[in-house]
Amino acid sequence: MINLYTSKSQCCGCTACMSVCPERAITMKPDENGFLYPVIDSSLCIECKLCKKVCSFQYDVENPCTLSKPLKTYAAILKDTDFLKNSASGGAFVALAMYTLHNNGVVFGCTMNDGLKPEHICIDSFNDIHKLQGSKYVQSDLKDTYYEIKKYLKSNRLVLFTGTPCQVAGLKSYLGKEYDNLITADLICHGVPSYSFFKSYIQWIEWKLEGKIIDFRFRIKEKCWGHGAKVVYKKNGIVKEKSIVPIESCYYYYFLKGYIYRESCYECPYAGPYRIGDFTFGDYWGIDKVHPEVNRSNGVSLVLVNTQKGLQIINGVDPFNIFDGSRKYKNSFKINDCLYLIESDFEKARQYNGQLNYPVIRHKEREIILNIFREEGFKAVADKYYNDMKKQIIMYKIKAIIPTPIKSKIKKILKRT
Ligand SMILES: Cc1cc2nc3c(=O)[nH]c(=O)nc-3n(C[C@H](O)[C@H](O)[C@H](O)COP(=O)(O)OP(=O)(O)OC[C@H]3O[C@@H](n4cnc5c(N)ncnc54)[C@H](O)[C@@H]3O)c2cc1C
Repeated sequence: MINLYTSKSQCCGCTACMSVCPERAITMKPDENGFLYPVIDSSLCIECKLCKKVCSFQYDVENPCTLSKPLKTYAAILKDTDFLKNSASGGAFVALAMYTLHNNGVVFGCTMNDGLKPEHICIDSFNDIHKLQGSKYVQSDLKDTYYEIKKYLKSNRLVLFTGTPCQVAGLKSYLGKEYDNLITADLICHGVPSYSFFKSYIQWIEWKLEGKIIDFRFRIKEKCWGHGAKVVYKKNGIVKEKSIVPIESCYYYYFLKGYIYRESCYECPYAGPYRIGDFTFGDYWGIDKVHPEVNRSNGVSLVLVNTQKGLQIINGVDPFNIFDGSRKYKNSFKINDCLYLIESDFEKARQYNGQLNYPVIRHKEREIILNIFREEGFKAVADKYYNDMKKQIIMYKIKAIIPTPIKSKIKKILKRT
């Protein structure tokens, strides 16, 4: 019987093994914390070991899984302010999605479905770009995405795949060869919690608000570019909204602290300067120090261009030179038609973005929180949080009501003493 992994940190849940299995003997099943892991049905398995060979997380799968250091680094801001407001960072993703759709391609990315479950879907229309916008800080379910992508690639369609670096690596090792009509963009990623933990959090807020949650958005920009979130819910037939700041949300706080991630995230080989996608997208944290002249009020993307293909796309080289001339691409659209690009410096940018240097460190709180979650349920997790964080939350609330000029005066006085 094949053993796909010996410790949980060896499996990122990318689905490459499931997708490659010729007998469809592998399914992804949640473990006790809700993270999906591959499970082999021994009655269907023919022991061909393709599932082992395709695992780029554990083994050095040869090309096309080579990592490369960025060739170019940019700060980027989308020109369309409506789209920009719904993007977590500077909207670089939307620009690449537009490029792909203008060239008759399809875009695969993560959406939050009607049940508030993050999952990958395929879009082929500009009207659907909004479905993929925004960060969902939960591991997305890839389902049959790799399978679908291969079909599009074989039928000569241009495909853009965006996801976490381990999802991009999984796709590449599943495909097993380079496709000139595939564009990949990985995210700078500090880790993913499980859907089951997030779902329990949602149920807990529904209980607190006595309403039905119809939308949940991480990274809204109503006040500024930062980590604000928003929940939209229905109570007594009326639709209401509630904004959420990380310190007041046990889920968001634990996510940002890195306490509730999948085991493999703490040993992620992709959290570093060497990247797997043609592009890497993240937040340009520290932009005020590196490029103080840039307007950061609505968010700024950090864009790393990691491959020659990526460079050609960003430089607006005629796609017929990049891709096989037999495909019918409209070649008029260029990335900088919709994106301001400011050339930047990778070494400076990585100083302000931890996951361009190393994976998040596994904290002892992880075991404690997930044990409580398994044994006593989410309410007990929330009780622990609000008990542990009582003082910090009160301090935050006091700070929030003090007007900014008074805050500055207090700061000055404190500096002098
Ligand atoms: C779990 C997670 C952790 C992250 N950690 C960091 C970090 O530490 N530092 C940093 O600089 N940036 C991080 N990011 C990236 C950042 O939040 C933005 O997603 C990124 O900058 C793209 O923003 P955008 O404005 O270009 O487009 P947006 O419209 O905001 O992003 C949409 C893109 O994100 C993808 N996406 C959203 N949620 C998921 C998901 N759960 N799984 C896979 N793909 C998803 C969509 O497929 C789409 O391609 C993280 C993102 C996620 C999802």
